[in-house]
Amino acid sequence: MRREEAVGNSPLSQPRCEIEKTPLVEGECQRPGEVRYKGILLVCGPHAALLQLEDRAEAVLGSVFQMEEWLEQNGSSEADEEYLGRIRHEREEAVAALRLIRVPIRSARKEVLQ
Ligand SMILES: [Zn+2]
Repeated sequence: MRREEAVGNSPLSQPRCEIEKTPLVEGECQRPGEVRYKGILLVCGPHAALLQLEDRAEAVLGSVFQMEEWLEQNGSSEADEEYLGRIRHEREEAVAALRLIRVPIRSARKEVLQ
């Protein structure tokens, strides 16, 4: 019987952004929580956008890492030249994508500070 929750008008009843529970951020965010991030944390819109972009960057970085490893192991072997070329090209594209993603990440970081 928690009657105070039923009133609903006090700002305390609005769940806050839980971004401080991630290792990424120090301090609290005062915005209301709006989006369930990965089904666990309730975060505000700007923080959700930033987390999504950073996840994407991390995924691309992971694929660059894998391609680097593969090239290191197979780059000097008799692996098919054409295939090698394709992997190198893919790696370059991934690196370029990583560079591009920095722009929206930077503006998303500014956004969360507002
Ligand atoms: Zn937030």
